[in-house]
Amino acid sequence: MRIVFLTYNELGGNQTVTDRYEHRFECSWIPNGWTRVGKAGQALVLQYKRSPTDSKETTAMWQELVTKIITEDDYVDHVIAYVCRDERSRDTLALVRHLEPSRVTLVYCPCNREYFAEQVDLAEARHIISECGGCVTMLSLFANYLVAGEVVNVRKQEPEATLPAEQPH
Ligand SMILES: [Zn+2]
Repeated sequence: MRIVFLTYNELGGNQTVTDRYEHRFECSWIPNGWTRVGKAGQALVLQYKRSPTDSKETTAMWQELVTKIITEDDYVDHVIAYVCRDERSRDTLALVRHLEPSRVTLVYCPCNREYFAEQVDLAEARHIISECGGCVTMLSLFANYLVAGEVVNVRKQEPEATLPAEQPH
């Protein structure tokens, strides 16, 4: 399995993160690039911000990923992407639309739930609602893959049907 973990934020990021359930996580920085997982697995971590802070290497990794996914059908088995509805995610969403939806996991925060529920061509992808920024969720998905060698604990969520209603305030 070749799994891509793609975000414009970070997996971890050398910071303490508090998710919406008030759990605190100490995160350490994960470098971009391919990592071996078990005997046959590989993971690509790509934290691509589309900003001047991206290194040349990071930008080149992104460009290579796009070229490979468009030209080679089996280049990756699955893409797990943290996305939002602004400019930063536009290229990512265009990229994952080249893959069958069953090979795509979209991770996004509750602020964008309605927006992604409306993207009908992505309805068959896996949808995971994360904390804002997705740092903790993306890191835990990556860690799960490193430990288990497959994408586990990725529960398909129908954004409209299975999420609890917001508390009135
Ligand atoms: Zn949010």
